[in-house]
Amino acid sequence: MKKIVRILGLLLFAIFIFVIIKTITNKPSMNKQEVNLLALPEKAIDHMSAAIQLRTETPNDDYQFDTATFMRYRTFLETTYPLIHKNLPRTIVDSFNYIYEWKGTDTSILPMVLMAHYDVVPVEASAIKLWHAKPYGGEIKENYIWGRGVLDDKSSMISILEAAESQLAKGFQPKQTILLCFGADEESSGKGATAVVKYFKSKNKRFDLVVDEGGEISTEDNKSIKAPIASIGVGEKGYVTLVLTAQKAGGHSSIPASHTAIDMLSNAISKVSANPMPAKLTPPIEAYLNSISAYNDNFFQKMGLSNLWLFKSVVMNSMAENPNTNALIRTTLVPTVFNSGVRDNVIPTFATAYINSRILPGQSSKDVFDYVQRTINDTSIKITYYKNYMTEPSPTTDVNSKNYKRVEKVVRSIVKDVVVAPMLMVGATDSRNYREISDGVVNFSPLTDAKGYHGIDERMLISDFQKCFNFYTLLIKGE
Ligand SMILES: [Zn+2]
Repeated sequence: MKKIVRILGLLLFAIFIFVIIKTITNKPSMNKQEVNLLALPEKAIDHMSAAIQLRTETPNDDYQFDTATFMRYRTFLETTYPLIHKNLPRTIVDSFNYIYEWKGTDTSILPMVLMAHYDVVPVEASAIKLWHAKPYGGEIKENYIWGRGVLDDKSSMISILEAAESQLAKGFQPKQTILLCFGADEESSGKGATAVVKYFKSKNKRFDLVVDEGGEISTEDNKSIKAPIASIGVGEKGYVTLVLTAQKAGGHSSIPASHTAIDMLSNAISKVSANPMPAKLTPPIEAYLNSISAYNDNFFQKMGLSNLWLFKSVVMNSMAENPNTNALIRTTLVPTVFNSGVRDNVIPTFATAYINSRILPGQSSKDVFDYVQRTINDTSIKITYYKNYMTEPSPTTDVNSKNYKRVEKVVRSIVKDVVVAPMLMVGATDSRNYREISDGVVNFSPLTDAKGYHGIDERMLISDFQKCFNFYTLLIKGE
């Protein structure tokens, strides 16, 4: 017996030593050298300002589509970027989606795609008074460029165009063919990107690296990490909404039955809320934890992150406590609509609720449906899919692939002391469609201070514009 205790003690001690060694040898690989950024081209800021002044709003329905403004935007592109329009053949897909092809010297390499969209969400009329600049003025003040769409996503589009135009001016020709793809309806239907990908598929095209908007650089994610974190999106969660309906004969509220349709549905919703889907560590999030582990200032957090083989459940429990990190390890379920009743003295016959779910890679809308059905376990509640919008989780880009490593290297060469980590995107972007024809889709642009997405005071730091310009320039140059 004593011997067993002694062996167990020795084993525990060995594990303890192993954990400590793994923690203290997990050192950050910081890029200490100074970064030398190229200056923005002379007219780049004026071009960005002009792009914002063209109000390329995405409408809710096709009938309100402002063709004249989208035509003006096309003319703006043609006159502002003459070398691109002279040297890179343009294909127009579905009226306003553009593909520019920059032939490389080595056509045996699969092409790279740099993509962005130039439609913007409308500005709420009631919120205009809250803005500190004209939403479509393209004003430049306090080191920012202001206006709807400057971040989402004209920051990427204009930076890509400035980078390509200035390389063309130097007579540069890339080794790898580069396609510049710009969409006109990402904020509404996203049909343009679907049509573009269909066009590529009809030509049997496949791509190497595809870079789209999505991930950014943040210093606020984790208080224990003092360095900026560049999050490179490597996959997108899926999206499904379930409609729950309870039906029971209603009637006069003066003689109520014991259990109404509202009671039945509330009961079902409470069961779903009380039983979240189990947490799961997917490969991109495990890679994210590994990437940030070395930079954590808090010894105990660092120990947990450096030894996931032992502390996985502790780390996941702590992630589950914060809604932002919880969404990374779980297919989420949340009631978003609850409808029932018409008058205060009538017991309603129907009650309907929507449950919105964002699905982790590796699970499906069918898994969500089955889970909700099992959890409610009540055949009187009818469950159906909400058909308007639904998408399965995307495949994910391997963080050990050359494409991911290439973007990581470029980010490190434009931002000093940055932590680069993969991330799962919770919203859908145009690049989702490209995952069918590329294993190297990533979502990233080097914005460090992105404020006002879809809201008031959308603005971009001029220094972020410079970072974006440098980011795309390095990618174009094949770094
Ligand atoms: Zn966008």
